[in-house]
Parts: sequence; C-alpha cells; structure tokens
Amino acid sequence: MSGDALRSFLAADLSPQALAQAVQVIERLRREVPQGVRWVPEENLHLTLKFLGGVEPDRISRLVTAASAKLEGLAPFEVALGGLGAFPNARRARVIWLGVCAGGAQLARLARKLDAAAARIGVERERRPYRTHLTLGRLRQPAPVALSGVPCPDGLPFSVEEVVLYESRLSSAGAQYIPLARLPLRTADARETNLAPEM
Ligand code: ATP
Ligand code: MG
Repeated sequence: MSGDALRSFLAADLSPQALAQAVQVIERLRREVPQGVRWVPEENLHLTLKFLGGVEPDRISRLVTAASAKLEGLAPFEVALGGLGAFPNARRARVIWLGVCAGGAQLARLARKLDAAAARIGVERERRPYRTHLTLGRLRQPAPVALSGVPCPDGLPFSVEEVVLYESRLSSAGAQYIPLARLPLRTADARETNLAPEM
C-alpha cells in the first residue's frame, strides 16, 4: 500500500435491531465456542460488499463517483439475517459468520456493481464467488467448531438504504472503521426528475 493510501472497503450497515440480534448470537457463541476466537465488536459488525485495499485520496473521490453512478436507480431492499456457518468450513474454521435468509440476491447484485465500479479505479476484480455473510468472529488457528442454528424465521428484517465507504485502520487494539462516504440507494422517481411517467 503506497503513500497515504487508505485501507478501505464498501459495506452495508445493519439496523440497530439487527445489530442487537447479531450481538446476542455472539454472546451465545462465546459460551458455545469458547477458545481462540476474536469476536467482532458491535461497532465493527457490517456486511462487506467489496474490499478495496489501499486507495489514495484522489482515487477515493473517483470511486465515490463511479459507485454512485452504478447504484443509480437501485432501490432500498430488505435483508434478514439467519443461519450460521464457517469459512472455509466448520472442521477448519477461520471465520464464523451469520448468513442472510432474505435479500441475498440483492446484496450480491450490489456487490457485483461495486466490484465493477472499483475496477474503474484499478481495484482488482473479485475472483471468488460472492457469499454474503456477517463476520462474527475470527480464529487465530483454524479449528473445528460446532455451530447450532439461528433459524431463518428469527431473522429481523431491516432495510438497506445506503452503501458505506469505510476506512479500516488496523492496530494491535483491533480494526477501527471510519465512514468516509455514504452512498444512498434511491428508486428512480419520476417526481424527482420532473418527468411525466411513460405510460
Ligand atoms: P483484521 O484484519 O485485523 O482481522 P478486519 O478483517 O476487520 O480486521 P480489514 O482486514 O481491514 O479488517 O477488512 C475490512 C473488511 O473487509 C472486513 O469485513 C473483512 O472481512 C473484509 N476483507 C478484508 N480482506 C478482504 C479480502 N481480501 N476480500 C474480501 N473481503 C475482505
Ligand atoms: Mg482482515
């Protein structure tokens, strides 16, 4: 990462209720999966849409422009959290995550658009298939984990209204995420453009 590049990523935030739900899941897992897990602090919980890596400030502003253009006409949508899993798998877990039971296709669509926008400023395209997940914890050493379910009907639906560009400051005390820009999702609305709808 060169010069004054900012380590950054694009994400969707959770609603306060969904955040509280995720924190409850972590509290339960703390008891069930006792050792060697760094649990994500509440303020860091988010759905990553695109990891950017180091981006210089002038490219950040170009990214915001490119991403806003890609998001044009995309309306807010509902997401519900549910289902637990581990990457790469439960026998050798590195990451423990909460899945989504609703809104996965829309999140994947957002991720694709943001991947394309990031490519415009020279960020490498994502080669792995996008798998929506909320990272709850990371294991220092891969280990087997037994995860009891979080049934999907429990998932509190919340609305994704914006994409947030975060800077990620890493330190020995853990990551600190600082919002740099908020890109709203908005339905293309005839009233806004003052055009009569085409019938
Ligand atoms: P730490 O690296 O100290 O564990 P972190 O992973 O939370 O902290 P970052 O590494 O800056 O912080 O990552 C920021 C976000 O981007 C996290 O959601 C992380 O899971 C995600 N991320 C990081 N690297 C990649 C990558 N190569 N591909 C996809 N997502 C990534
Ligand atoms: Mg990391």
